[in-house]
Amino acid sequence: MTESPADDCIFCRIVRGELSTELIAESEHNVAFRDVHPQAPVHVLVVPRRHFAALRDVGPGDWLITADALTLASRVASEQGLYAGGYRVITNDGPDAGQTVPHLHFHVLGGTMLQPGLG
Ligand code: AMP
Repeated sequence: MTESPADDCIFCRIVRGELSTELIAESEHNVAFRDVHPQAPVHVLVVPRRHFAALRDVGPGDWLITADALTLASRVASEQGLYAGGYRVITNDGPDAGQTVPHLHFHVLGGTMLQPGLG
């Protein structure tokens, strides 16, 4: 049987429950868990259950999944108490952006004054 690229994908394994990662929130199309190397007091990853290598692989028919991801990111921010101070949601696509895990994910960062700017 041919292996899918998602078979040994670390985030696919988390989605399938093969690792001990605790999910802090879930929705129909996405899961959320804490980043193992947090860059802020609150650093959560929102990850589609379906494997996309990066944002560039999301097609026009997949909008339900990405809309659901952003909705879950906002819900996580609320549940983590970030609405008062604000928060940031970002995705990295490709090496220039610093993407290290080739499965689409959105970082939810907050709980402190974040570095200004986007680059
Ligand atoms: P990026 O650099 O945008 O691809 O982000 C990948 C993020 O995934 C990094 O912030 C890592 O710390 C995080 N990460 C990698 N493996 C795990 C894991 N098993 N559980 C939680 N976070 C992880």
